[in-house]
Amino acid sequence: MAKIVCVLYDDPEGGHPTNYPRDGVPRIERYPDGQTTPTPKAIDFTPGEMLGDVSGALGLRKYCEKNGHQLVVTSDKDGANSTLDRELHDAEVVISQPFWPAYMTAERFARAPKLKLIITAGIGSDHTDLDAAVRHGVTVAEVTYSNSISVAEHVVMMILALVRNYLPSHEWVRRGGWNIADCAQRAYDIEGMHIGTVAAGRIGSAVHRRLKAFDVKLHYTDRHRLPAQVEQELGLTFHPDTASMVPVCDVVSINCPLHPETLNLFDERMIARMKRGAYLVNTARAQIVDRDAVVRALQSGQLAGYAGDVWYPQPPPKDHPWRTMPHEGMTPHTSGTTLSAQARYAAGTREILECYFEGRPIRDEYLIVRDGKLAGAGAHSYSVR
Ligand code: NAD
Repeated sequence: MAKIVCVLYDDPEGGHPTNYPRDGVPRIERYPDGQTTPTPKAIDFTPGEMLGDVSGALGLRKYCEKNGHQLVVTSDKDGANSTLDRELHDAEVVISQPFWPAYMTAERFARAPKLKLIITAGIGSDHTDLDAAVRHGVTVAEVTYSNSISVAEHVVMMILALVRNYLPSHEWVRRGGWNIADCAQRAYDIEGMHIGTVAAGRIGSAVHRRLKAFDVKLHYTDRHRLPAQVEQELGLTFHPDTASMVPVCDVVSINCPLHPETLNLFDERMIARMKRGAYLVNTARAQIVDRDAVVRALQSGQLAGYAGDVWYPQPPPKDHPWRTMPHEGMTPHTSGTTLSAQARYAAGTREILECYFEGRPIRDEYLIVRDGKLAGAGAHSYSVR
């Protein structure tokens, strides 16, 4: 019997939902590169239900109980004497979602001698100290591709919202106004703009494909260059690094993981290299940008807008400056936790658990760290110190 600690976000303020605006979600069997969506032996939920909150328990409760495992589900993860800290001493598996991350620091590893597996229910395992996972021989796995398309849709929405000045215009309506000139004074079309992505992995590439239809000029940088045929098909211009790409872009979308190479990549100097009045969209990780440099750039007009759904820490304090900076289009960390995405990453989490407990290999593409080194998706997309 194993103890599984699962850290999830709180239920909605009105309680765990009992009904939904729609009667289900489309069934998707393969991702755009042909990879199959998760293939657990069974699931104990109806796709489209809320699974990521504490009551949803990622749909894992029945499975864990049937197999004699102890499942502890909590949202209490930070501060002195949190439930997470109290449960770690005999935990074998820790699961959390990047939206409400269990920050698995080196100190927490030291307090969890039985820990064998950390699962990111979603994508992006930077909330786990990967160096510590390497040192302790703990496997880190995530549900690769499960919400990449969800995020790409959010990126396109945010680019359009910023450039077309959607949110402030909406506010005029709510306030009873009809202030056309107030709305139009910051509104543009994206047609003809140069839009660049930092990384062209699953999300970056999905952003390219979606934006192509808008007749924009697409740019990217990545440590793995795409095949020439894909560059040609999408009209992509490759740049060897971020510094050489940003000066030509009207909009930049950050789509790389957070790891030592990308920490603080968008500092004051990188933002100064951007065109005056460029837009920056960050659905990757907050620490890829310098928090205060973003605020200053919005105040000075160097950036015309910043939007994203990733913050540090999560949840952010009430007085986090991104809540009140000008020309922002922020959301809480929601892009990858639509009900559609939850069904996939909950099934993927179940698949990883089944493999682990049945002694079957976890899919290579789900692996970030295994056997004391980066593996699978981790070896492709991350670095350690
Ligand atoms: P992916 O592994 O398919 O792509 C990552 C890409 O980043 C790879 O092509 C890799 O080569 C590239 N890369 C890594 N380091 C780089 C560097 N220094 N410079 C340039 N490129 C670099 O992953 P993905 O599915 O596209 O997800 C990317 C990231 O997006 C995740 O790691 C996560 O941080 C974030 N994400 C956010 C949400 C959300 O809800 N906001 C959801 C999913 C993923």
